[in-house]
Amino acid sequence: MAAPKFRIAICGGGIGGLALAVVLGKYEQKDAPLEVNVYEARPEIATFGAGLSVWQRTWRVMQLLGMEQELSDASVRPPSKGLGPGFVYRRGDRETDTYNYHTVMLPSDMVGVLMNNIPPSYKIHNSKKLQQYVEVLDDNGNLKHYELHFADGSVAEADILLGADGIKSATRMCMYKLAHERDCPQDVDRDHCTRCHIATPKWTGIIVYRSLFPTERLKEMHLDHQGLRFTLCVCNKFPFPASTP
Ligand SMILES: Cc1cc2nc3c(=O)[nH]c(=O)nc-3n(C[C@H](O)[C@H](O)[C@H](O)COP(=O)(O)OP(=O)(O)OC[C@H]3O[C@@H](n4cnc5c(N)ncnc54)[C@H](O)[C@@H]3O)c2cc1C
Repeated sequence: MAAPKFRIAICGGGIGGLALAVVLGKYEQKDAPLEVNVYEARPEIATFGAGLSVWQRTWRVMQLLGMEQELSDASVRPPSKGLGPGFVYRRGDRETDTYNYHTVMLPSDMVGVLMNNIPPSYKIHNSKKLQQYVEVLDDNGNLKHYELHFADGSVAEADILLGADGIKSATRMCMYKLAHERDCPQDVDRDHCTRCHIATPKWTGIIVYRSLFPTERLKEMHLDHQGLRFTLCVCNKFPFPASTP
């Protein structure tokens, strides 16, 4: 077997990290394979939530990766543009062609399909919570490799580190810490540094409330409203109505 071209560490075994491993497996050159290690903080690759809505754009990516049939088999219903169980999502600023909802499946089934498509030579390590990584330099001050330090005291090496460890990413925090130490004025701490304070995520979105609206009231207002015919969720920049007939 050919020697690995370089060593890749993926920090985080959520849907993002696993999908990344599938992509690497699909596109690596067979005569120069990659050494890929996925490091997951939890004791097992696990998912939460009852149902995962898979949107058309996600589905297209899965199609391109050759996982369409397996995912169709795992879906609650085969994907289609027509109406089915679950909400029909409509953008409030468009009158037609806004059915975005595609299919739904158990998150564990999605993870199962991804795991099936990761090359067997790629290793998944559980209970490996990254605390920090350090840059190991050679005698000339050039980057030799990264050293990953985990909460259980173990250490691993990689030539490339890819952070897929979610919204509170330890990889990103560490990247900004190292960049701050290297590039920014020493008398400014990172939380007050104009560039590096963005390493700490903060909420910039919109809070959306969902509530029930009586069908009878909707009928009074609009006898032919589409929300009386199917389960509808309209998204807009002002409060959105969600309805079930
Ligand atoms: C309530 C809810 C419902 C949702 N429903 C849908 C839906 O129906 N359809 C949809 O498309 N999206 C949905 N989403 C969004 C979707 O869950 C996220 O976009 C997706 O999980 C992001 O994947 P990820 O792999 O980037 O991050 P995550 O899912 O957060 O995975 C990160 C992984 O990294 C691990 N990790 C964290 N820190 C470390 C560390 N220091 N070292 C090692 N590993 C670490 C975590 O344990 C985890 O396994 C929903 C989100 C929520 C909160």
